[in-house]
Amino acid sequence: MGLVREVILGSWSLITGMGVTIRRYGRRAITTQYPRKRLEMSPGYRGHIELVRFEELGSHNCVACGTCVRFCPTHVIKVQGEKPRARAPKRATLYFIDFSHCSLCGLCVANCPTRTLKFSTEYEMAHACRWEGVVDLMQRLEESA
Ligand code: SF4
Ligand code: SF4
Repeated sequence: MGLVREVILGSWSLITGMGVTIRRYGRRAITTQYPRKRLEMSPGYRGHIELVRFEELGSHNCVACGTCVRFCPTHVIKVQGEKPRARAPKRATLYFIDFSHCSLCGLCVANCPTRTLKFSTEYEMAHACRWEGVVDLMQRLEESA
């Protein structure tokens, strides 16, 4: 009885597997020949954090308020700013994140009052050493201009 049951279950498993194979046969391949072909990420992809460039400003809109620094649970953000002149709003002059300890929780993005932080669609963030994960977001923004 046990043998018959095993044969039936095995046959059913084989038929199920063959059914999946037959249904998929002839469909367009969805694999990408990376790295020869680049992947197109969806807009909802959560890559590393980056600064948003605002068209009207031609740059980011970080006012160095420090909200992201306070919300970050892993304390990986360093931001500094200065007032270009008296009574002018503060502007960030330096913005670093240590991506090697960033958990991509999104608290900095969600709580930025000027909406100047976002998730990138970049997926290649491998580093040869720990310090390569410390990234100057201002420099990245300038390089992407
Ligand atoms: S995503 Fe989270 S862990 Fe990463 S920098 Fe922002 S607040 Fe910190
Ligand atoms: S990125 Fe946003 S929350 Fe962080 S210091 Fe700049 S303005 Fe404030």
